[in-house]
Amino acid sequence: MKIICIGRNYAEHAKELKNELPDEPLFFLKPDTALLKENVFYYPNFTNDLHFECEIVVKIDRVGKNIDPKFANKYYSEITLGIDFTARDLQQKCKQNGFPWEKAKAFDNSAPISAKWIKLKDINFESTEFCFFQNNELKQKGFTRDMIFKIDEIIAYVSKFITLKTGDLIFTGTPAGVGPVAIGDSLKATLNGEEMLLLHVK
Ligand code: MG
Repeated sequence: MKIICIGRNYAEHAKELKNELPDEPLFFLKPDTALLKENVFYYPNFTNDLHFECEIVVKIDRVGKNIDPKFANKYYSEITLGIDFTARDLQQKCKQNGFPWEKAKAFDNSAPISAKWIKLKDINFESTEFCFFQNNELKQKGFTRDMIFKIDEIIAYVSKFITLKTGDLIFTGTPAGVGPVAIGDSLKATLNGEEMLLLHVK
């Protein structure tokens, strides 16, 4: 199982990090050891600037390669919310040097996800909103309609390069409002008002 993450998929977020908008989906991978299903996250000792990025996560439920965008919707049926934890200080250094991002993005437990999954047939995905709260303060509010690349386009694009397998997860990018977390924080994410994720930082 692998985790595919899309970067810069919301215009306002790309702007806040002073990044150009991509003309094709930008993706990177996290290994299965990044997945965290517990509700406790231990702040890693190799960063002093760990950021939250709350994202809609899609689960792949069939194997596919070179998937036509028209048929991409046959490859997933459920979504949830997750956090793409990012060691922003390490990432800035990697970016400056033109190095890969993995140590800033793919470390152990850097991809907590909710235990709940929402069936797409039960919601109107186009009008779905999600929110992220740090210590009960609203930090991020995302609307699926603001995604630059929609799920079907992402699946078609990524599957040109990498075979998608059952159980793979796609983090679809974060809206504006990312920021640093601290030990003692409680991090909460909601989808259409329903609590999905509650994570304690220790
Ligand atoms: Mg992200």
